[in-house]
Parts: sequence; structure tokens; C-alpha cells
Amino acid sequence: MEGRGKHRARAEDLRERYPYAREVLTLYLALLDVWDQELPPEQAFPLVVKATEAYGPAPLAEAARAAEVSVLDAWAGGAELDAAAFYLARASGAVGPYRPQAGDGDCPRCGGPAVLSYRSGGAEKLVSGKRLLRCGYCRHDWAFSASTCAGCGETSGSERTVYAEEVPGEPAVGRRDVSGDAMLPQLRIEGCESCHRYLIDVDLGRDPRAVPEVDELAALPLQLYAAERGLSKICPNLMGF
Ligand SMILES: [Zn+2]
Ligand SMILES: [Zn+2]
Repeated sequence: MEGRGKHRARAEDLRERYPYAREVLTLYLALLDVWDQELPPEQAFPLVVKATEAYGPAPLAEAARAAEVSVLDAWAGGAELDAAAFYLARASGAVGPYRPQAGDGDCPRCGGPAVLSYRSGGAEKLVSGKRLLRCGYCRHDWAFSASTCAGCGETSGSERTVYAEEVPGEPAVGRRDVSGDAMLPQLRIEGCESCHRYLIDVDLGRDPRAVPEVDELAALPLQLYAAERGLSKICPNLMGF
């Protein structure tokens, strides 16, 4: 398991750089304080509720205030949860439902859907450019083909679209900072025209300080761009985007 110090430092850094991500990352930092205590989900739950009431966006804070700890069992039992309950269950560290792995793009441990994709940098021990997926249910990581859609297994290059801010030969997306540099060069949208779904891919080779689950939370401009193009996320991230 990765140490959370790196997650904390990255969240603080991105919060300063991207004002639009401030609220989400402030809540994420408060959740790190809860996770550091390594509590069982039932004990983490009231602390997650408290952190969400204090730092979460108003609708989520309100939903958290009204939520019952029974959402943890509902989640484990495979019940359909609304966005707030889904957030509370995952943020409390509750075990998700086990479902048979439907495709290669699903988690080999629990069958859950992928929530993000990332590529290792050259400095990592892994082969440069190797792609991994992270489970949106249990946070397990597994290696996955860089040229296959994690949602439907599509391998045709003509059906797969990649949007990034500044990759030669690819459509540019997102905003630029005052110096004209891409703001989010380490992030891109991996979209699929077959299933109309996408994931955010975090390229550690472009920014070795990136922490996939933190950087993905700062991908809001790309997520809006994907939504405009009719793409929906394979699995929403912790904050529901
Ligand atoms: Zn999983
Ligand atoms: Zn697909």
C-alpha cells in the first residue's frame, strides 16, 4: 500500500494550482485524516459524515447528515445506491459487492469497474508506459492493454479516442495557464465510440509527482469536455464525477 503522505502533499499542491478543484481536494484531505486512523468501516463512517458536513459541497453535506450507517451493508449486499450513499460507503472503506468479472476491463479481485487508468513513468520499476487500471470498488490495481477499452473490450483504434491538452496529433482540450502551458499535461481522456464511455488516464511519465487517485480528482475540465461529447465515465470517482 502506498503511503498517504504522498497523497496529502499532492492534494495540497493541486489545490493551490487549480482553484476549481479546491473544494473536492479539501474534502479529500479531510478524508485522508480519517483513513490514517485505519478504522473499521462502521467506525470510520461517522467521521466521514463529519468531514463531509464540514468540507463537502452543500448537497453532499446535506445527504451525509441524513445518511444511516446501514448504507455500508447495503453496499456490501449489492444494493443500488444513490450518489451520496455510494460516496459514503466507499469513503468509509466498506467492502463492495462481489460480482463475477464480466470482462478483462473489470477488477480481477472483486469484479468491480475501473475508475481510472494510469501509466508508469520511466523512473518506475515497471516497464515505461505500461498501463494499469484501478478498481472503483476495492482500489485494486491490475495491468491492462494500453490499446483496449476498459468498458467494452473494443480494440479498434478508430473507435477509441484520446483527448489531451497537448499531445501532437490529438485534439487539444482543457485550459492553459498564464504561460500558455497545458494545465493538466499528465491527464487525458481515454474515450470509446463503441460504448460511449471513458476513463481519465494519468501519465506518470509526464509528471512523476502525480498520484493517480489525487490527480484524477483534478480532472474536472476534462470530465466536462467528455460529458459534452456524450461520454459517461465507466465508474464515477470517489467524489461522484
Ligand atoms: Zn476490485
Ligand atoms: Zn468501449
